[in-house]
Amino acid sequence: MRNEECIFCKIANGEIPSNTLYEDEGYRVILDLGPATRGHALILPKDHYADLFELPDQNCEQMLKIAKKMGALMKERLGCSGMNLVQNNGESAGQTVRHFHIHLIPRYDDGSRIVAWTPGEPSAEELAEIRDTICG
Ligand code: 5GP
Ligand code: ZN
Repeated sequence: MRNEECIFCKIANGEIPSNTLYEDEGYRVILDLGPATRGHALILPKDHYADLFELPDQNCEQMLKIAKKMGALMKERLGCSGMNLVQNNGESAGQTVRHFHIHLIPRYDDGSRIVAWTPGEPSAEELAEIRDTICG
């Protein structure tokens, strides 16, 4: 399941070279070309799925396992003290490449803010209304 116009399909399947950290039958982990921090990597499935909502359940499990393994390796080798997993779906969420991927962003003790937002202050009624909208 490839998309001929998709750059991540080409990278994941080795048609375009990349700095590969890990590869198996179904996945490739590469260094991001525009890294947020030293070691910023992307986990790519070799098959094309635009986003999380297209991704089969078994890939979800596999990819989180790869994230865990690569994260542990980065902590050991790069000396990072933390790690953000970031995964964008849709333009409004900041997704720029429509081939599902998970960002692995090693974090160091430098105080930088990368994944951050200003917390809102919803009332109890607002929270209940949102809960009912989603689940009711
Ligand atoms: P998104 O914004 O879709 O969640 O993330 C796309 C990521 O892919 C960005 O961090 C960007 O730097 C990275 N990227 C875009 N094109 C390439 C490429 O050709 N090679 C690599 N290694 N990374 C890319
Ligand atoms: Zn693709």
